[in-house]
Amino acid sequence: MTQAFDIVIVGAGMVGAALATGLGREGFNVAMVDRAPAPAFNPEAAPDIRVSALSAGSERYLQNLGAWDHILNMRATPYRRLAVWDETSHPLRNLLPRTSNRVEFDACGLNTPHLGHIVENSITQIALWHTAATEPSVTILAGNGVSGISRTDEQATVTLENSQQLTAALVIGADGAQSRVRDMAGIGVTRNQYGQQAMVISVRYQGQVEDITWQGFYPSGPRAFLPLYSAGPEYPGESLASLVWYDSPEEIARLKSLSNEVLMAEIQTNFPTELPHLTHIEDRANFPIARQHAKQYSAGRIVLAGDAAHTINPLAGQGVNLGFQDAQCLQSILKEARRAGEDLANPSRLASYEQLRRPANRRMMLTMDAFYHLFSNRVPPLHLLRNLGLGTARALPFARNQVARYAMGIDDELPAAIRQLASRLPGLKQL
Ligand SMILES: Cc1cc2nc3c(=O)[nH]c(=O)nc-3n(C[C@H](O)[C@H](O)[C@H](O)COP(=O)(O)OP(=O)(O)OC[C@H]3O[C@@H](n4cnc5c(N)ncnc54)[C@H](O)[C@@H]3O)c2cc1C
Repeated sequence: MTQAFDIVIVGAGMVGAALATGLGREGFNVAMVDRAPAPAFNPEAAPDIRVSALSAGSERYLQNLGAWDHILNMRATPYRRLAVWDETSHPLRNLLPRTSNRVEFDACGLNTPHLGHIVENSITQIALWHTAATEPSVTILAGNGVSGISRTDEQATVTLENSQQLTAALVIGADGAQSRVRDMAGIGVTRNQYGQQAMVISVRYQGQVEDITWQGFYPSGPRAFLPLYSAGPEYPGESLASLVWYDSPEEIARLKSLSNEVLMAEIQTNFPTELPHLTHIEDRANFPIARQHAKQYSAGRIVLAGDAAHTINPLAGQGVNLGFQDAQCLQSILKEARRAGEDLANPSRLASYEQLRRPANRRMMLTMDAFYHLFSNRVPPLHLLRNLGLGTARALPFARNQVARYAMGIDDELPAAIRQLASRLPGLKQL
């Protein structure tokens, strides 16, 4: 049987499910398709290995969609402080005071109650499936991937693995970094594999839930701490956290082969001294790290959003925050197209979506690359420069706070002077 919709969204991760909710609210007749079954919350289960630092901007968006309260009712951890520092051991380090290589932002200094929340990806996704399900014009089709998409001048037809067919004026590919929709649309990517991978480790530690997330930069990659929630009455006085260890693929492969006991000892030796006392490893997983950007965001009746359009180095935790910005932009463009009585796949509307989103996504990719290259080397002048840089950042609270407010999604735009500087950085045009 063929079902007809205005829009078919393929991929109901955080970005696809947010789009389905928002478009459903606008009265579009939407199919939200995911190959995975519907996610469910189990308060007893170990935390999802995938967690994201959601910015204040993403929080506002999720509030507007009605998902934020569901998230808080399950679990989310606000962080009020964020610290970064250089952990390279080098003789030049002795030339500088110990504190000069550390920058700490706190919510009070940025005039905001918190800097963001650490939320398990599955929790955000469950909350958004719930809000999508409450929209009468949204149909959720879970448990079947997409096997084909055909297009005519009038419509696109999406075929699912169970042979079900869905027609629509527009197909949104929100099916993640390995997007099949993107491949089916014939859209290529530019890709840069970093010389690092990430191991994410869920741990229990002794102490109350921390209100700080931090990242120490080593030449082989950063090591980060993201606080989660209390471990509950079964483990009194203990809390959960997510650690991220970035390193060379060879080192990550070695860490992967270790037993939990040996890995725990490695973490305790190799993480910064700020790490609380760990008591248990709950779970772990490895992630490849690549910068990837679709060569175009749309082709005919297909348009991309979220990781299907771009993936960035996760070191500053901005991937889904950018995806949510894509979703908001695309939703308002489609609303405009419908108000003007146009085809939802009007090429000039989809081009304006790309014109708005590509530079913003590219700017964030480039900022992450600059961080990656600045910190992933042992060249003494650069070491000195970044320490001085961190020291200068401490000494210039106004400029620092402006950039921090942008990076954390509190402000929507960088200050004009910094935007101009970023637009002159080499390599921007290739992304
Ligand atoms: C180590 C690490 C740490 C990160 N930390 C952060 C962070 O702190 N903050 C942040 O903002 N971002 C972070 N990110 C990035 C963030 O996880 C991604 O940007 C985000 O998950 C992208 O969401 P998405 O909905 O676009 O794609 P995905 O989460 O990949 O969802 C895609 C969905 O599509 C479905 N799907 C796939 N193929 C098909 C198909 N053929 N048919 C139907 N359905 C399909 C999948 O089942 C899935 O539900 C991190 C990433 C990594 C690797």
